[in-house]
Amino acid sequence: MVNAAGKFGPYDQPGQARPAPVAGMRNAPLLSGRGQTGSELVRSRIALQVRLKSVSPGDRLPDAGVLAEELGISEITVRRALEGMCQDGLLDRRRGRAGGTFVAPGWDTVVALMHDADEAASLNAFHLLLECGLVAHSAGELPVDRLEGLRTLVDEMDLADDPARLLELEARFHLDLAEALGGPGIREFAGDLLGRLCLLLPAPTPAVVRAQNRCHAELLAELGRGAMDPAVRAVKQHQHVRPS
Ligand SMILES: [Zn+2]
Repeated sequence: MVNAAGKFGPYDQPGQARPAPVAGMRNAPLLSGRGQTGSELVRSRIALQVRLKSVSPGDRLPDAGVLAEELGISEITVRRALEGMCQDGLLDRRRGRAGGTFVAPGWDTVVALMHDADEAASLNAFHLLLECGLVAHSAGELPVDRLEGLRTLVDEMDLADDPARLLELEARFHLDLAEALGGPGIREFAGDLLGRLCLLLPAPTPAVVRAQNRCHAELLAELGRGAMDPAVRAVKQHQHVRPS
C-alpha cells in the first residue's frame, strides 16, 4: 500500500494510533545528539568551558588555531563560529596588541535571551537516555575504584556554598560519570550535549542542584553494589528534580 505522504513520508497508516511515549520522553520531538555543525560545536564547547569556569566573562579565548586543533575541525569553521558569537553578543573582539576574542562581560544576560525550552527538552531527554544506557551497560561490571572520583565530587558538592561553584561541580559530575562508565569518547559526547544545554536552559538553583546531588549519591551507592534498576531510577529521579 502506498503511503499517502509519498515514498519518503511518515510510515504511519491512516487511523493507526502512534504508540504512547515512555514517561519522561513526552517532550522529545526529535533526538539531536552530536549531529551538529562545527559552528554549533564551537558554541557548545565554549558554553561548557564557561560553566566549568575554565574561562570567565571578560577572559580572552585561545586563538582560533588552538581551538580548531582541540576540536578537530578547520580553523575557518572556528573563525566563522567566533564571528557569529560576536554578532550574537556572546563574545567581544578587540583589536590591537592586547586584542583577541573575549568572553563578553554580559555573557549570562545574552545567554538568557537564547533559552529555548523545546530544544532543551529534547536534548535533556537524549542526555537522560545516554545516562540510563551507560548505567545499564556498566552496572555490575565496574572496577571497585572506578567511582572514587565521583564520590569525592558528591562530597565537594555537599560542602559548596557558591552557586557558580555548585553549577561547575554539577557539570563535572556528569562529564566524569560519562567517562567512568563509557570512556573518554562518551565524555566528549556528553560534553557537547551539556554545553548546548547551558545555552538553552536557565541554570538550576542551588536548592535544585543540592537535591540532584542526593540523586548522584544514590546512583553511586546503587552502582557500587551493582544494582541496575535502582541505579537507573536514580538517574531518572535526577532529571525530575524541580524547584520546591
Ligand atoms: Zn547532576
